[in-house]
Amino acid sequence: MGEFRRRSTNSSEENVTQKNHQHNFINKLLSDIRKFYDFQFNEIKWMNEKPQNRKAYEPTEIEHIANIVTHGFWILPSAYAAFLLLFRSKNQDQVMVALIYGSALTLLFCISTAFHCVFYCKKNLLLKDILHRMDRAMIYIFIAGSYFPWLNLGHTQHPYIVYVLKWLIWILAALGIIYQQIFHEKYKSLETIFYALIAIGPATVVILYGHEFVGMAELKIGGLLYLVGVFFFKADGHLSCAHAIWHLFVVLAASIHYFAILRYLFSDQYSHDHATMTMNT
Ligand SMILES: [Zn+2]
Repeated sequence: MGEFRRRSTNSSEENVTQKNHQHNFINKLLSDIRKFYDFQFNEIKWMNEKPQNRKAYEPTEIEHIANIVTHGFWILPSAYAAFLLLFRSKNQDQVMVALIYGSALTLLFCISTAFHCVFYCKKNLLLKDILHRMDRAMIYIFIAGSYFPWLNLGHTQHPYIVYVLKWLIWILAALGIIYQQIFHEKYKSLETIFYALIAIGPATVVILYGHEFVGMAELKIGGLLYLVGVFFFKADGHLSCAHAIWHLFVVLAASIHYFAILRYLFSDQYSHDHATMTMNT
């Protein structure tokens, strides 16, 4: 009887100890999760101060990673998108557009990602500076490259205006790049104004002449997204991951423009429609 009572006392003590262990385990797990959460979300530095005296903004670690991912992810899809245009080309004009626009699209993401990777490593300052200049120059090339398909393949009732714009946009891009190489990072707001002018200028001329490209709605939506994106391009130090958000606006706007090009200028119907339009004009 005594033996039985001792055994039952022992087993109830074991139960209590086991429950204590379980309780301790849950408490420890919860406290570790809380610590992990604190480390993840409170200890991470989400943003640095905006620098004074026109110095470049120094992104935090998380901002560096966001900058790399938001453009790096699109290198392969943009290369595929470029090949798809080449694959669908049925005449020399389309091949030229596929090569120039496709290269500009793919290089935009490649150079941007390379620059942000080198910047993140903080080792090779010369390479970082070269890639930064290339990254900025690519904005001009990409703006001109985005107009290129429409000015070369888009049906038009105003061939003269389109012909002038077709060359003017590359001259403006070249002037922009020369200016940017000479005054790199000196007058940043002026540089942004130049980007906006070269992007909006030709579109304004097209709209003022009342010319409608087939994909006009998509062109306007894409253009508007780029303009909203500029707000984030200038918001470093005011908003965490502002530059990465700018990257996403670029991705979204470029995608809308790309699919409009694919749909209207590289569709299976294009060659037949274009030939008919050319014969009629
Ligand atoms: Zn960037």
